[in-house]
Amino acid sequence: MRGDQARRASNPLSDAGGGARGRPDASDVSLAVDLGGTKVALGVVDRTGRVLDRDRILTRASRPAAAVIGDIVERIERRWGRSVPSSRPLGVGVAGQVARDGTVLFGPNLRWHDVPLGPRLARALGRPVAVLNDVQAATYGEWKHGAGRGSSDLVCLFVGTGVGGGIVADGRLRHGATGTAGELGHITVERNGRKCRCPNSGCLEAYAGGWAIAERAKEAVAMDPRRGRRLVALAGGPASITSETVEQAYRAGDRLARELADETRGYLAAGLVSIVNAVDPATVVLGGGVMGGYRTWVGELAREVRGRALAAAVAGLRIVPAALGPESGVVGAAAYARDAAAE
Ligand SMILES: [Zn+2]
Repeated sequence: MRGDQARRASNPLSDAGGGARGRPDASDVSLAVDLGGTKVALGVVDRTGRVLDRDRILTRASRPAAAVIGDIVERIERRWGRSVPSSRPLGVGVAGQVARDGTVLFGPNLRWHDVPLGPRLARALGRPVAVLNDVQAATYGEWKHGAGRGSSDLVCLFVGTGVGGGIVADGRLRHGATGTAGELGHITVERNGRKCRCPNSGCLEAYAGGWAIAERAKEAVAMDPRRGRRLVALAGGPASITSETVEQAYRAGDRLARELADETRGYLAAGLVSIVNAVDPATVVLGGGVMGGYRTWVGELAREVRGRALAAAVAGLRIVPAALGPESGVVGAAAYARDAAAE
């Protein structure tokens, strides 16, 4: 499949000299935007989930929402306004809580409250627009074109700086009553545990999120500076320790880093057991930067979950690594818009 992809032109939509012959059918693509707190990824995606063309701009979220939306509109119009017919939909994955009508109710990284993102984009671009949460978009991508393809009951867990997820049940992405379904990082794994960034304490994210791993590492180093020497040396100072420092030290065989990593994996296993028992998925997809940093984790987590979850829930369960990488949000938003437009 990769060879087949490589044989075709990598940027066919902007290949002005290509003519009609051999070019992908622009009447069958979707546009996609993955809108985060620091950057915006944009792309043109075909029905097989292949990203035909891509672009990227900085969000600069300190500005008003209208300016951020204006940049997105301007970039899409300039780059694809002519080549992609206005009948083709735009899918948007956005870091925040999204209402059914495409309004961003709350986007902490964007500093947005009640921004009618979907309606504004639809008006400005004159094409159908579908908006969903960015992690739900990534889940949709893994479901339609990635590691969860063919499964109608799927859970994705993404472990990066934060811990997020998405749930597909009975062949539909679950949004929930308020759009927050799949916030799997905020299930409680320790009553009265570490303070989370949400109102709760003891959340999975408060142990396994990148920010929490950094906090736990700094505390461990402060408690026993001798054991923390390698972490401090790698980071350049105790205050500069990050979850990547822990990963680096772990690969170098450092004992404290191994303890931190094992503990993190233990919390992830505890969370996954609850998720599997509650949702009963056929497939669990594990992704995100932290997850990708520990090569043995997917296999170890699968073993642990099989040993601890209800026997019926794990009977046919597949636990697999994510397949799409950082473009899952763009691929998923495009697929979501395509399906929403067809409904
Ligand atoms: Zn939380």
